[in-house]
Amino acid sequence: MDSFDSDISFFISGHPLWFLCHGMPEAGIKRLARCLAKTALENVPGGQIPPLSPGEVEQILARHGYYITETSFRNGTPRIFAWSSEEEKRIYINRGALEDFLASFPEETSGPSPDIGTIRGLALAHEWFHLFFHAIPKPDEWGSLKRPARIIAEETAARLYAAGLLQVPFSPMVLDLALRKRGGLGNE
Ligand SMILES: [Zn+2]
Repeated sequence: MDSFDSDISFFISGHPLWFLCHGMPEAGIKRLARCLAKTALENVPGGQIPPLSPGEVEQILARHGYYITETSFRNGTPRIFAWSSEEEKRIYINRGALEDFLASFPEETSGPSPDIGTIRGLALAHEWFHLFFHAIPKPDEWGSLKRPARIIAEETAARLYAAGLLQVPFSPMVLDLALRKRGGLGNE
């Protein structure tokens, strides 16, 4: 994942809440996010060892009682690929936005092109991370972090977790890099 280090920095320092992390070194958030993602990948709920296929991610979610709802809205920014609700035990996938992303993929990034199943799996794994984030052991420094830094660290870690869980050959920030150019958002 180290080859994508600059993409991770780009995501952290480009996050809308970054200006509230006064004086916090970007490297500190990156290190924390890597630590959280690593801990989560070593303790995947259900005990499976990565890589998991998108289908396996979906099966584990179903076993844990989560529902998946596909929706599709495309117009306007910010565009959101997925979001989740612990209350509803549900992950929402915005298929229209994912399809739009794939349709414009070659012009925005280099390397292998993802397919809809892989991108959908990344979005599901990302939301799954948020859903069990409260149960992930946190390093000591977590306690002294302010909310904006926590949010950015969690979002960064969710992307690293998703990419690590599926072991995709492209950047963990793939969706953000494409959207950033258009002024939109990625996963919630
Ligand atoms: Zn997220």
